[in-house]
Amino acid sequence: MKSEDIFVTKPSLPQLESFLPYLEEIWSSQVLTNAGKFHNLFETALAEYLGVKHVSIFANGTLALLTAIRSLDLKGEVITTPYSFVATAHSLLWNDLTPVFVDVDPFGFNMDASKIEAAITDNTSAILPVHCYGYPCDVEKITKIAKKHDLAVIYDAAHAFDVRDSAGSILKYGDLSILSFHATKVFNTFEGGAVISSTAEQKEKIDRMKNFGITDEVSVVETGINGKMNEFQSALGLLQLKNVGQAIRGRGELSARYDEALASVRGVSIMSHMAAEHHNYAYYPLLIEENYSISRDELYEKLRDERIFTRRYFYPLISSFSMYNHLPSSCAANLPCANAIANQVLCLPLYPDLCFDEQDRVIDRIQKYS
Ligand SMILES: *Cc1c(COP(=O)(O)O)cnc(C)c1O
Repeated sequence: MKSEDIFVTKPSLPQLESFLPYLEEIWSSQVLTNAGKFHNLFETALAEYLGVKHVSIFANGTLALLTAIRSLDLKGEVITTPYSFVATAHSLLWNDLTPVFVDVDPFGFNMDASKIEAAITDNTSAILPVHCYGYPCDVEKITKIAKKHDLAVIYDAAHAFDVRDSAGSILKYGDLSILSFHATKVFNTFEGGAVISSTAEQKEKIDRMKNFGITDEVSVVETGINGKMNEFQSALGLLQLKNVGQAIRGRGELSARYDEALASVRGVSIMSHMAAEHHNYAYYPLLIEENYSISRDELYEKLRDERIFTRRYFYPLISSFSMYNHLPSSCAANLPCANAIANQVLCLPLYPDLCFDEQDRVIDRIQKYS
């Protein structure tokens, strides 16, 4: 029997029939975008679901990030991580800011907060950390450093939908956080994103900026952009909110099965100890270490030959791309942990519809090659 392809992720979608009434309403109202009914309903429902006050929904996460950064009027250098999706650092270049890369924690995937202060100069205006794979950053330490040096903090929380610590949503930290609802993320609206503001004034500014800086029919007060989420995406988002809790529970169950099966495999390091109080199991990263019988890339290729498509998130590091590799902070000596992890990491298939038989096929191969 030919075995089926297993991809690293598959988008969660509602039953098509359940979406049809929403489509009919959009078609008959002919309101397609510009803060329509579903936009406003979804924005309110999302804020309530996440337990945060000020949410602005966007057409995608990158526009949310670009707008969040621009709204703070930053200059000079911004401290960030090389271990992320390229949109993180690109959003700084698009805002004429210079990224300064800080290494990640030796036992994790997030920016090492103890290395931030050494990277601060007279030109530093902000910190842009990433809650990588949905694991919370050291938010306490980052808050302290930002206060002490009067720096803004924007969290790229693209992976951190509904992650909570003992104080509630981790989206409450920093001046602003952004989410992504891209098809590959835990919660999707095909494309989509959001900015979470810490104050009502910030949200008002973000809302204005995502609509060209328009305040009324005859007034434009700043250089905004078109970041609006349309009615189709918003209605889908409203419907997806009903299912995401169950999807996250399904991911959690699969993660626990991986943990149990892989914890004792020689040369493999699992990272489940990093789980937050309420995690979203967005990814299942493994480290393939030196005492595994083959290299990470050999394992990646062997799995691919067996139609199991894992991903090397995040390899290569952002700092190695041509628009970043000339920066002093991109040198290998500055980023030993990020380089080591980028060369060992492999994200395994994880999505609610992954059946146990398929997951067992992935587990079996990783055990077999150890
Ligand atoms: C997905 C992602 C983004 C960009 O979000 P889009 O919705 O795809 O534009 C930004 N940062 C990180 C870390 C991401 O994973």
